[in-house]
Amino acid sequence: MPIPCPLILDNVTIRHGAHTLVAVDARIAPGEVLTLMGPSGVGKSTLLAQVAGFLAPVFTATGYIRLGDEELTRLPAERRRLGLLFQDPLLFPHLSVGGNLAFGMPAGGGRRRRRQAVEAALADIGLAGFAGRDPATLSGGQRARVALMRVLLAAPRAMLLDEPFSKLDAALRDEMRRLVFARIREHGLPTLMVTHDRDDAEAAGGPVIALSAREA
Ligand code: ADP
Ligand code: MG
Repeated sequence: MPIPCPLILDNVTIRHGAHTLVAVDARIAPGEVLTLMGPSGVGKSTLLAQVAGFLAPVFTATGYIRLGDEELTRLPAERRRLGLLFQDPLLFPHLSVGGNLAFGMPAGGGRRRRRQAVEAALADIGLAGFAGRDPATLSGGQRARVALMRVLLAAPRAMLLDEPFSKLDAALRDEMRRLVFARIREHGLPTLMVTHDRDDAEAAGGPVIALSAREA
């Protein structure tokens, strides 16, 4: 396993024309979750898009994004190797549950090792034997757990969470929060979460930065 590195947002500022949408300066330690809290429209998803490497061209960004000493700012999204979880647990409908889990796994190790890793991940989330299932047959909570494991199996170097629990009903939401934050700590992944829900920030247990709407 690679040595975990902090995720650094060095004066990252995103502008829309002359208007500054959002500005963040932060250092996130391995296994730590930094929460950016703010109302809808404040620029949370736009900031995550910049960190992930797919900022929409209508925006301009300054500042630097680093993982330890490695500069990510100019790398294309796929070479940043960050794990993303969104509101909707997106699974490929044309792949089985096992195919979804194997999708982003690093090459090498052989078919057998990969299949074993998929089986172990399924057992870990209470879905042993589900590898052949069509994702459409899963419940919302099962889909959310599979989406998390798919991201982790891809061996990301940091995590970006965009309101990851907002579509789950209350009981599942608590369970998912526990699972996600426990795995982030275990894997030592620096994590940037954006949300409008205070309870997400509290469950994450890390520092919180409040984003407020700026005057245009
Ligand atoms: P949040 O995630 O905090 O709800 P967003 O980052 O999605 O906010 O959006 C911030 C602002 O940028 C909003 O005013 C939104 O309408 C605008 N915006 C987002 N994406 C685009 C885009 N591709 N083109 C133009 N404006 C956009
Ligand atoms: Mg958003």
